[in-house]
Amino acid sequence: MSNTAEHPQLLPTHNVPFNRPFLTGNEIKYIQEAVKIGKISGNGTFTQRCHEYFKERYGIKKALLTSSCTDALEMAALLCNLGPGDQVILPSYTFVSTANAFLLRGAELVFADSSAESPNISVESIHALITPKTKVIVVVHYGGIACDMDPIMELAKEYNLLVVEDAAHAIESFYKGRPLGSIGDLGTFSFHETKNIISGEGGLLAVNNPVLADRAEILWEKGTNRAAFARGEVAKYTWVDIGSSFLASDLTAAFLLAQLESLPKIQERRCTIWNRYFSNLRQIKLSATLPSLPDYATVNGHLFYLTFNGVEERNQFIANLAEYQIQALFHYIPLHSSPYYTTRHHGHALPNAARYADGLVRLPLYYELDLAQVDRVCEMIGAFG
Ligand SMILES: *Cc1c(COP(=O)(O)O)cnc(C)c1O
Repeated sequence: MSNTAEHPQLLPTHNVPFNRPFLTGNEIKYIQEAVKIGKISGNGTFTQRCHEYFKERYGIKKALLTSSCTDALEMAALLCNLGPGDQVILPSYTFVSTANAFLLRGAELVFADSSAESPNISVESIHALITPKTKVIVVVHYGGIACDMDPIMELAKEYNLLVVEDAAHAIESFYKGRPLGSIGDLGTFSFHETKNIISGEGGLLAVNNPVLADRAEILWEKGTNRAAFARGEVAKYTWVDIGSSFLASDLTAAFLLAQLESLPKIQERRCTIWNRYFSNLRQIKLSATLPSLPDYATVNGHLFYLTFNGVEERNQFIANLAEYQIQALFHYIPLHSSPYYTTRHHGHALPNAARYADGLVRLPLYYELDLAQVDRVCEMIGAFG
């Protein structure tokens, strides 16, 4: 509390958590409706409405609601038809689910570096790692800010690779005007309670490559053609391929629909907060750098991060904010150097991934955070220098 006396206006009287899930008010009502309809398992009325929302708003050809983004990624890996010896290039600086999905299929993970300007995967790093065994490129749009998709899609075309977009952070964000998650062959979204739009746990697979659409629906429904049966396209449903129970309950869909209906309102709020952090912190002399925003990308207010020059400075910053009951968090032990993977990694250095792992910190950002609180958080950041 040493700073308190010097900065009496900064007394630790306010408690700013990192995240607070936001409810729109219609979640329980829609869940009650689903219960009343009587079909609360998967692929019911509310699931269909969520699918329509994604198809209409983002031009996604086939949308499949899943129990999590982790599940959507597992479906994506299955659809890539990978086997032992096949290589998947993916960023090291990401959440474990991006990697696990492909490892579960027996593929070999080839970790790429982040770019110098942002935690997003570096196009040069991808290029350098392509071999005759490469089958898939996975990108993660970190913080909802787009990866440079044109050169990535060109590489995929040149080497005949599939592209999976992990768009867990990236709802309602765009690359040159195109919705993230709709550009690669497959895209995955998350509705985990830490994301912009939530359903507790929940996810969605966007199937953009039409060749994969029919099979996606079958994998989703335990390897059966039940979805086609539900549409009256086949007389009975049966086992036609491998699969699992990837679909979400209609209770989850009911909750999610309430959130989707408030998406513009939620996004407006989150982007206002993001922009307030950005404009406030630009005016302060900081040893950390602000997020870089390429002109091809948009902000979706998923998270606001700063990058410090190393782990000590970063940890001191987090500790300083904690004294004022402001919760800031770091994340992502680079997957290539995690306890599980370090002995399996090829050994190539990924200096940018390491730099973000050591230096990056995320500030509080949630719907109910008001701008006065944002200003106070920024004031304190300024006070620490
Ligand atoms: C949250 C997240 C996931 C996993 O999402 P779940 O819905 O929790 O399974 C995957 N990838 C990234 C980048 C994430 O942030």
